[in-house]
Amino acid sequence: MLKMIVCTDANNGIGKDNKLPWNIKSEMEHFKSTTSGHTVVMGRKTFESIGRLLPNRKNIIFSNTLQQIEGATVTNDINIVLNLAKNEDVFIIGGKAIYKLFEPYYDELLISRLPNSYECDTTLNLNMNFFNLINTKDCNEFKIETYSSYKDKILFSKPCVDSLKSKMIAEKEQLEHKYHIKPKLAIIQVGNDYGSSVYVNNKSKLGKELGIDVDLIKLEDTITQTDLVNKIQELNKDQNVHGILIQKPLPKHIDEHVINLTVSPNKDTDCFHPLNVGNLWTGNINDNSLIPCTPYGVIKLLQFYGVELESKDVVIIGRSNIVAKPLAALMLLNNATVKITHSKTKDLAEKCKKADIIVSAVGKANFINESFVKDGQIIVDVGINRNEAGKVCGDVDFNNLIKKDLKITPVPFGIGPMTLIMLFHNLLICYKNALSNH
Ligand code: NDP
Repeated sequence: MLKMIVCTDANNGIGKDNKLPWNIKSEMEHFKSTTSGHTVVMGRKTFESIGRLLPNRKNIIFSNTLQQIEGATVTNDINIVLNLAKNEDVFIIGGKAIYKLFEPYYDELLISRLPNSYECDTTLNLNMNFFNLINTKDCNEFKIETYSSYKDKILFSKPCVDSLKSKMIAEKEQLEHKYHIKPKLAIIQVGNDYGSSVYVNNKSKLGKELGIDVDLIKLEDTITQTDLVNKIQELNKDQNVHGILIQKPLPKHIDEHVINLTVSPNKDTDCFHPLNVGNLWTGNINDNSLIPCTPYGVIKLLQFYGVELESKDVVIIGRSNIVAKPLAALMLLNNATVKITHSKTKDLAEKCKKADIIVSAVGKANFINESFVKDGQIIVDVGINRNEAGKVCGDVDFNNLIKKDLKITPVPFGIGPMTLIMLFHNLLICYKNALSNH
């Protein structure tokens, strides 16, 4: 029994810019012969564009309208496909809707993909983005990759985020029920930087999902430092606001250190206040302490996947106050042995090769290549970059390194979502601490 998903978005390519493999004759021919005599499952639109090119197959079309299509069984019942797949090979060709539909069954599926499907934008938006990450750019023939052979190597954040989310929602609801006060995060955005707006929107969206109020305060980038400080002090005093986040970067005329000092340490969801930073470095922390979001997210994700930190050699590349330094403190608290490295570090690749865990927070695409790694390592990719094609990627040469015996956090869908969820984790800590003083 072989069940496959051919990962491409057929509709996107057909008739557009000839990008997709369906327009490449040899691949289409190969697909035709591979599926010959088998059941092919697809969405209605896919059927319209390529399904009709596959004669003599048993076609099952997923459609909400259940409108009859000649030569095909039309259904919206996934069980029909799953039952069939118990006894015979079933091929599933999917766009976004079909991937979503079969997502709960990925563990049982052998996944295959076509070369060039990475070019398709729609697939990049999927949770199962690794199809695109494991690209077969140089591959000229139909290639089958088993999902399971990569699955265990990619430390996706989604399951960890989902589990944190449900715990956080349950705890929040309990406290709301008891105190009749809703948690609230205030975000200050100075100016209209595009990247900042994207991050702020993501934060608002997640807040909504968690049932947490997020107030976005947009200020002109001409605001004076004094006026910004006054605004923050106002929020410090506001009892309905439990956490304050100042979206970075700030305009050059504003001193970040002053701003970090102004946010009340009790509402410091980013954990940039020197008091909270000091508590972290002196080990004066407990379950109700604020810890910087990205490093905290890294630790939570590693713990989620059962990665033991005690006595491990960890190399962190980068020495920023946001990621690298607080992560080093957290690693030490977890009894790891830590090396902080940077652009002036000599023999960096050699140092990395000797480590058990590498954390890259550099901000350069493909920085971590084969010369940095050895089998059995865990690689945490914090970097957020754009590759030559303009797509989001991390610091790690993922497509090559994933073929090795390594575990890697992907970008996207790795540390980014962890950072976001830990922000709200911190907000709930501020909220709980405020309620306990109520
Ligand atoms: P910075 O961008 O402030 O600094 C980058 C660090 O990389 C510096 O310490 C620098 O060394 C080091 N570096 C640069 N080139 C080299 C080199 N050739 N060899 C060794 N080290 C080098 O760090 P951040 O921590 O702010 O950000 C790092 C990356 O992480 C960025 O891509 C950022 O977008 C991303 N990020 C992702 C987050 C997430 O949620 N996933 C959250 C925060 C950041 P030196 O100090 O000597 O200049």
